[in-house]
Amino acid sequence: MKTGFIFDESYLWHDNGSGTLYLPSGGYMQTDVFVEHPETKRRVNNLLARCGLMKKLNQIEPRPATKEEIEYFHTTDYIEKVKQLSDTTGGDAGDHAIVGRGSYEIALLSTGGALRAVDAVMEGEVDNVYAMTRPPGHHAERNKGIGFCIFNNVVIAAKYARKKYGLKRVLVLDWDVHHGNGTEQAFYDDPNVLFLSIHQHLSFPNNTGYKEDVGTGEGQGYNVNIPLPPGTGDAGYVHAFESIIEPIATEFKPELIIISAGQDPGMFDPLGRMMMTAEGFGQLTDIMLRIANAHCDGKIVFCHEGGYSNAYVPFCTLKIIERLSGIETDVTDPYAAGAQGYPDKLYTNQKEAVDEIIAVQQEYWHALRPTVESN
Ligand SMILES: [Zn+2]
Repeated sequence: MKTGFIFDESYLWHDNGSGTLYLPSGGYMQTDVFVEHPETKRRVNNLLARCGLMKKLNQIEPRPATKEEIEYFHTTDYIEKVKQLSDTTGGDAGDHAIVGRGSYEIALLSTGGALRAVDAVMEGEVDNVYAMTRPPGHHAERNKGIGFCIFNNVVIAAKYARKKYGLKRVLVLDWDVHHGNGTEQAFYDDPNVLFLSIHQHLSFPNNTGYKEDVGTGEGQGYNVNIPLPPGTGDAGYVHAFESIIEPIATEFKPELIIISAGQDPGMFDPLGRMMMTAEGFGQLTDIMLRIANAHCDGKIVFCHEGGYSNAYVPFCTLKIIERLSGIETDVTDPYAAGAQGYPDKLYTNQKEAVDEIIAVQQEYWHALRPTVESN
């Protein structure tokens, strides 16, 4: 398996400034390191290099997205606002979406990394690809940045794949612990992009991601939210993937799969409470590879989103890339023992949560295939 890896040093230079967790400086707390910072990503690179996997991956350079490509989703006014902040004082481009000096160009390169990833897979340069994009994108809406996200990399990548390669069915799966509200907005009425978001219910944003939000118009049934309770763990995620995501994907028959890969369901994440282990991320990757192999010759693109544990994001991301490449390293999860006592099997409340989601959404599943083929 040939696996691509996309990264640029400048991804680490996007500067959120200082703050405490996700709040800016001020109030009663001494200023600390802002929770979205370069270190988690740098340490993924460190671990990939240290264990020898990095040199076995195809290194692919990103290119900057053009303004016209960013306009596939975002308004011109919003793009201008980001550029203006980036060129001058910096500031918030919406809701918790800090733009630092020079962040505009880095955000273009982040989105361009996702576009380059689509090209690499569609043109057969590699079988699959992990794009270590930063800043992340999945919360960014048409006219504002939200939750550390400036431009919606995955939305623009899916639209780019549709335009450039004439694809009629792109599946976007968002496993970041937070709801992919921006991606949902982009494709809510679009039957050509099936969007699935599996997330901790009402974590962030705190008013989106409900299971009843199934899309509208021609896109009805093509928006699938899987909101799960805190503490779901590996077994609950695998159950949801096998009993919701896999059957829906089988109906849809994607021509390309794009993953919003946030490793913040990880068990040590400061912004998530889902208790996933590195091995769990490996299992989810296996399921998505199985779907990709069944329907689209294994064409799957991963774009990095959230994940805020310096210690654990590297091990989770390594496990994903091991499974993508089929190359197992001798790295074992040094924190696995810490997961003893965490949810390791399916508990009744988790099964009930998944069953309730299925009860709301299942009537749309059988309709996916004929609707798409008639497009
Ligand atoms: Zn997140």
